[in-house]
Amino acid sequence: MTPSPAPAAKSNQAAAQHLPKARDVLRGRRAELAERLVRIQRDRQRQEQPLSADFSEQATERENDEVLDRLAEATGLELRQVSHALDHLDAGLYGICEICGEEIAAPRLAALPDATTCQDCANERKPAGHGRA
Ligand SMILES: [Zn+2]
Repeated sequence: MTPSPAPAAKSNQAAAQHLPKARDVLRGRRAELAERLVRIQRDRQRQEQPLSADFSEQATERENDEVLDRLAEATGLELRQVSHALDHLDAGLYGICEICGEEIAAPRLAALPDATTCQDCANERKPAGHGRA
């Protein structure tokens, strides 16, 4: 008789050893991102002042705004993912893919502590080509 654990009850033993560390890393990362987001928003507000009379100055200011907007967006996205990863971890699912329920490979977890899917599922989750039968 071969033991066949139910997919739902699966736990990633290798990953579990690194769980306390991962939680620390993710919490630190979350705090850092939240702080950065506040800073970006503050910078962005500071720039909501009348544009300079100088045309080249104006262009630079608009560019800066765009850079800050993109930065805020990217930071917000990462913050959401890190928070999500912490929820995943607190649910006792650290190292388990949230899509297929398989273990997430240790090197992937080491490289991406906020990963909540395995490499295969991450590849398949590319925005467009999902409806393939
Ligand atoms: Zn998966």
